[in-house]
Amino acid sequence: MKYVFGPVFSRRLGLSLGVDLVPHKVCSMDCLYCEAGKTTEKTLKRAEYVPFDAVKAELEEFLSYEPDIDYITFSGYGEPTLFSRLGELVHYIKENYPYRIALLTNGSLLHRDEVLEEIRKVDVVLPSLDAVTQEVFEKINRPVSGLTTEMVIEGIEKLIKMGTSEVWIETLFVKGINDTEEEIEKLGEAIHRLKPHRWQLNTVARPPAYEIKGLSFEELERVKRKVGYPATEIIAHSKARRKKMPISEIKKEIYNLVTRRPCPVDEIASALGILDEEAERAVEELLQEKKVEEVLFGSTPYIKGKV
Ligand code: SF4
Repeated sequence: MKYVFGPVFSRRLGLSLGVDLVPHKVCSMDCLYCEAGKTTEKTLKRAEYVPFDAVKAELEEFLSYEPDIDYITFSGYGEPTLFSRLGELVHYIKENYPYRIALLTNGSLLHRDEVLEEIRKVDVVLPSLDAVTQEVFEKINRPVSGLTTEMVIEGIEKLIKMGTSEVWIETLFVKGINDTEEEIEKLGEAIHRLKPHRWQLNTVARPPAYEIKGLSFEELERVKRKVGYPATEIIAHSKARRKKMPISEIKKEIYNLVTRRPCPVDEIASALGILDEEAERAVEELLQEKKVEEVLFGSTPYIKGKV
């Protein structure tokens, strides 16, 4: 499958079937921390970047097995709302299947009414909001020219007012960039005003696109205490679901996972719900086949897919 991947066990969504709606690496931002690598096409132009019929056919095939998944999630290599037929896809899924839909977005297009209309039936929208001041926004998210933090905040506000989806705002903290007292205060004010269903604090936990450092768990806890928003959570790792899979299938799933999100071997095992030994064996074979590589982040080896 080319556009549908997983299901993978995600920290926030449980067992989630991923759908890629833009190719590597089309995005309206080029975030310092991006796990999918540096953006090669920075744009706000919406287009059918991947063929709608092919995505639909892959979904049809996968969902014909009636898998026990928690979400179908639009995520992957870049910004999913850039896909111009997103609304049709949401409609198709909701008309034909019982699954919940999640959308991971950088929020850059949520201020547009037609985009909000298209995602009206999405169950959970997870927009990022890493900065409130334009200067910090430009440093951390490196947006396409003309995109402002006001536009992102306005979009999230409109989405919350529309009231059709749960909204979980994610803020990813990068050391020395958006963790100043002043920025945290402003972020806190914005969060208290927007009132998302959840505010999720994250930090750099996988090999990022650029040389940066994350915050410790204690530092994130301090942010949480300082802002004092009741529905705040520091994103933590989830427990695995165990399932039996042939090695060829495991290798395919690992490759799909680590080309989007580099992971240490134990996290791969958790994400796929397999035993550590199974993950180790499959990774070993993928390394020999040169389909993946090992990169060090801090002192931890991560497995990263070669695209
Ligand atoms: S983290 Fe998301 S918004 Fe930022 S560059 Fe990567 S895909 Fe784009």
